[in-house]
Amino acid sequence: MSKQSELDKLKASIIKDNVCAELAKDANNLVFGDGSASAAIVFIGEAPGKNEDLQGLPFVGAAGKFLDEMLGRINLKRSEVYITNIVKYRPPNNRDPLPEEKLAFLPYLMRQIEIIKPLLVVTLGRHSMECFMPSLQISKVHGQPKKMDGQVYLPLFHPAAALYNGGMRQTLVEDFDTIPEILRLIRQPKKEN
Ligand code: URA
Repeated sequence: MSKQSELDKLKASIIKDNVCAELAKDANNLVFGDGSASAAIVFIGEAPGKNEDLQGLPFVGAAGKFLDEMLGRINLKRSEVYITNIVKYRPPNNRDPLPEEKLAFLPYLMRQIEIIKPLLVVTLGRHSMECFMPSLQISKVHGQPKKMDGQVYLPLFHPAAALYNGGMRQTLVEDFDTIPEILRLIRQPKKEN
């Protein structure tokens, strides 16, 4: 089965398994993910907002425009990466996702990563980072790649948080610009001594 077919099957299983029925009840769409099933980079945000819920696509509002801009700086298009969220239905009034909602979606997020097998997982914001690295502080580790169980993660600030905060915005852009070099280092075969 192709990676895209496996992702489609996984998306269908979220509906079949009735994940977070309370959130699903008020949502217009399940926001599963967008981009290439064979992407080298997977970006993970928090949860869909209003625009994402209406369109059924992640990061299509103001934060998404900023993400697209940063992708452009490193010569990547949305269609060449994969973008998703931890929680795949919009929480009411854009409140923070609850711990139990993050937990309910975690196996599906893990499976998405397992299917795509990216070289790099970029976590956007504290909630996303804490799914994989619960003991770290984003203010201390943003921009530093971390390798765990064979997977490289890059924790970054959330574009929505950085959008209207000049200092954080600058830091996020600088961290983002290091992605090509991080990918190059991951791809580089080990030198023999
Ligand atoms: N913020 C997120 O974390 N995800 C989205 O899809 C949009 C905004």
